[in-house]
Amino acid sequence: MNWSDIYHNLKKKIAAKCCPKLPLPKKLNKLHRYARMKHKNKIVTTVYALLLVFAFILSVANHNNVNASVSPQENVDYLLLESSINNNYDETTVYPEDSVENIRSLFEMINYQETTKTIEHEIELSKGDTFINVLTDLGMEYKAAYDIYLELKKVYKPENLKAGQIIKITTTVDTVHDKLLSVDSITIEPQPGKRFIVERDENNTYLARKEKDDLILEVKTAEGMIDGTLSASMKRAGIPGKVVGNFINIFSYSIDFRRDIKKGDKFEIIFEKHLTQDGKLVKTGNILYASLTLRKDKIALYRYKDKSGLVDYYDEKGYAMKKTLHRKPLAFQSARISSPFGKRRHPIKKQIIIHWGVDYAAPRGTAIYAAGDGVIQSAKWNGGYGNYIKIRHNSEYSTAYAHMQRFAKGIRAGVRVKQGQVIGYVGSTGLSTGPHLHYEVVKNGRRVNPLKVKAAAGENLKGQNLRRFKNQVAELRKTYNTWFAQIEKQKEKIARK
Ligand SMILES: [Zn+2]
Repeated sequence: MNWSDIYHNLKKKIAAKCCPKLPLPKKLNKLHRYARMKHKNKIVTTVYALLLVFAFILSVANHNNVNASVSPQENVDYLLLESSINNNYDETTVYPEDSVENIRSLFEMINYQETTKTIEHEIELSKGDTFINVLTDLGMEYKAAYDIYLELKKVYKPENLKAGQIIKITTTVDTVHDKLLSVDSITIEPQPGKRFIVERDENNTYLARKEKDDLILEVKTAEGMIDGTLSASMKRAGIPGKVVGNFINIFSYSIDFRRDIKKGDKFEIIFEKHLTQDGKLVKTGNILYASLTLRKDKIALYRYKDKSGLVDYYDEKGYAMKKTLHRKPLAFQSARISSPFGKRRHPIKKQIIIHWGVDYAAPRGTAIYAAGDGVIQSAKWNGGYGNYIKIRHNSEYSTAYAHMQRFAKGIRAGVRVKQGQVIGYVGSTGLSTGPHLHYEVVKNGRRVNPLKVKAAAGENLKGQNLRRFKNQVAELRKTYNTWFAQIEKQKEKIARK
């Protein structure tokens, strides 16, 4: 046999195998190509049909669930299938092009859902966390994180972030390689209704902005009987701590909370609250009315802002209460008197002398307030008095504070201070047996008992201010007349008993 015989035998064999009914050697090549084509198309047709069924199942399965997945093997299968369709596609094939496109885009859609994912993080800052390290912990490059930090800085100081603060971050990740693709948005809400946002736009640029919800102003009334401390009783009535603190401040100029308040005394208050649209308390507002009934004496005060913008509390007749010197100029209102004014045996000198002030025992570091508006006359070491401050309030009155641990920032001779401003902190410097405030009131050059000072009434309202104030009081009483009436009724009931 020569090479030609072998060649023809082989051709015959192939022809017989593929198309046994077409034995004609002359047309063999052409026919065989056709047969092969047909055979291939058969495979493609079957695969195409299967693919359609598969795609249909997927589309049904995914109708309500975009998280359906395709395994990596199925992806490979699809790619092989698609390339086989493309390679065999010519004029003789009948598959419409858009069908293939549809299948392709369907696969792409499924693939997209599968390989990337949007994640919403809520990260609570721990102590020592910084804005940048939160981002780098998510997989961001330091440089990119720093750029976002700079952008955020335009609207919010990232240094103000505190442990416990929650940062909401939206990221896109590659789920196959478990890799961060992008940080899409960052939201910081330091207080309800106030947000700082950095967001990525289509051009991959980060832009910072702030959002503020409109707040709702709510006016609340509350009243109650005192049992235990005033602040605990008020908190039990649902009054926020900050409002309780302000309430006490309003009265602290005329009342000694430790000595004057007894069980069964009453409080009344009208105060403002600022709420978000969904009712979260953002901040407390002003106290419009505050009253204390101590045994039979009722002190009722109304807030008034005069034409110059000065805010103060006045009784119904427009008399200022505030300007009376503070009897206990301390942040710690339950401080007890450890040594009263007058004659006593000195604990260190061991002899009878006159104690020219009142001693309030209080924890070291307790803030000491200016007892009234005035000018610091001296703030320095003063022998047995230790660290000592003297304030001149007016031509009549001065006050002195001794044994301070230290002075508050900026407090020195010549500085003007406001009533209630922190001037220093309780300590035990100089001749002292323990942490306390030694407090003196000087009237016309003579030291007097701070608890007996009635004096120094502030500026009462006059003229136009008085008229405006009275109108305002009438308005408030009209708005809350049912509440006021109910309180009056309760009072009568108690009186009749
Ligand atoms: Zn003393």
